[in-house]
Amino acid sequence: MIVAGELKRERHHNTRNKESLIGTLNERYKPLTPWERLELLFDSFPAREILMTSSFGASSAILLHMLSKVKPGHPVYFVDTTHHFKETIAYRNQLAQHLGLNVIDVSAKPNRSRFTHENRTWQKNHDLCCFINKVQPVNELRERHTLWISGLMKHQNANRDKLNIFEKKRDIVKFHPILDITKEEAELYVYLHDLPAHPLVNQGYDSIGCTHCTAKGHGRTGRWANTAKVECGLHL
Ligand code: SF4
Repeated sequence: MIVAGELKRERHHNTRNKESLIGTLNERYKPLTPWERLELLFDSFPAREILMTSSFGASSAILLHMLSKVKPGHPVYFVDTTHHFKETIAYRNQLAQHLGLNVIDVSAKPNRSRFTHENRTWQKNHDLCCFINKVQPVNELRERHTLWISGLMKHQNANRDKLNIFEKKRDIVKFHPILDITKEEAELYVYLHDLPAHPLVNQGYDSIGCTHCTAKGHGRTGRWANTAKVECGLHL
């Protein structure tokens, strides 16, 4: 728990000590399997310091399944942008029941969310719309945690290919336990554990976000298609 305490003390500082702590964590966790990484994290850090969010998208089931076995009942925050497909909400409910998850919804304040509906902000300013509906609600969660588990995988896009298992992100440290699993390994994991698929995957959606900003397509090509945007801002 020495590293955990040190990491918490350093969270608001950009010190060389913090860089070195993250380097030590990366060396320790890199040779492990994703499952072992998750187990070691919960053995080494107080659970209350660890934030887990999920979009309940096309590739969310793997990490949710691991978490449900390693730390049953650990809170999983679902960022309900209020612009989701009805299939995503159904999938959230299906996975929560199937895996026994403790899912907690978080959303923008009603007045802000309503503004994006009335203003159709996704047509004018994607970054503002994502900031209101995704980034800001998660910022409030970040304040209460030291580490943030994320299911990003390197094969998903070039940005993600450059990441490490632990990454310093302003006031929090991101933890990517399944970062280096390949697309084939991810598919095999889903198959071996009989995990249900998001209902839109069979209709040609490889990656699923909000209705206005998601089209059918390979990989993440259907997200904010025909724009320069590739990430919602949560992971930048
Ligand atoms: S993905 Fe689209 S609709 Fe959803 S919050 Fe971002 S801009 Fe708005």
